[in-house]
Amino acid sequence: MKLDEYRRKRDFQETDEPEGGKITDRSNIYVIQKHQATRLHYDLRLEMEGALKSWAVPKTPPTESGVKRLALQVEDHPIDYADFEGKIPKGQYGAGTVQIWDRGDYLLKSKKENKLIFEIRGRRLKGVYCLVRFKGKKNWLFFKKKDQ
Ligand code: MN
Repeated sequence: MKLDEYRRKRDFQETDEPEGGKITDRSNIYVIQKHQATRLHYDLRLEMEGALKSWAVPKTPPTESGVKRLALQVEDHPIDYADFEGKIPKGQYGAGTVQIWDRGDYLLKSKKENKLIFEIRGRRLKGVYCLVRFKGKKNWLFFKKKDQ
């Protein structure tokens, strides 16, 4: 099951994060959550096939082309995580604060095993972006495409 890893890592008696499994008709969700955990990072999430595909970006997501950011793929998150903001208590996985940094939707332009091209329609990020896998399963680069 897709959300097994997500659920295994969390104790829903302790954290306010959604357990998932709610029926939703939302699609093409795009969100970036600023996550002040042990290390500050930005969680990029794209709704695909009923879950949020997720990448942790250690530095500020690029608003202009010419900047490439490392993006580490992490476990799929439930759709309702897109609305989550709050505090994850000490001792819990990802302990710290989560704030929505950008949100909107996206338009998938091309999807290959190692490369996604999509148009982000957010408040901070707008335009065509790429995620390119460069090493192993989890290491991707996230960057804005040059204007055509
Ligand atoms: Mn995170």
